[in-house]
Amino acid sequence: MIEKYTQGYYIPNISRLAEVILKELDVPAEVDIQPLKIKTSNAISYVEGYASKYTPSEKAKYTIFIDTEILKMDELSDPMINLLIHEIWHIRQMECGWLRANTEYTVAVWNGIHFPMTIPHDKRPWEIEARMMEEKYFSHIKELI
Ligand SMILES: [Zn+2]
Repeated sequence: MIEKYTQGYYIPNISRLAEVILKELDVPAEVDIQPLKIKTSNAISYVEGYASKYTPSEKAKYTIFIDTEILKMDELSDPMINLLIHEIWHIRQMECGWLRANTEYTVAVWNGIHFPMTIPHDKRPWEIEARMMEEKYFSHIKELI
């Protein structure tokens, strides 16, 4: 269950949306939503966590960080649906072992192939796939919420 009272943010709509997407995308991980405090790039959201095989004693735990202004609105807008499909798909990629990164986050391994993180964000194959999943699941998720 996603914590609805996250650091002073009451986000019942976003939390429910995340639950729906986790279920529909068949991602059995524990996911927490937190405000994005440090803006390192132009990103409005990103996901962090460790796949269950690296923490075998407990269930996999991931945190999705989202821009505070977006969290405060707690809207079920179309961009919000796409944002969560995208980030939750990254969780699926990590849970399935398709995507791994080193701890310094300088190298990613995608389907056994090493990629330096210097490649542009929109050219990364796991990003291309996550964007494709936004398109694939958007209408279905919108119908469910
Ligand atoms: Zn992404």
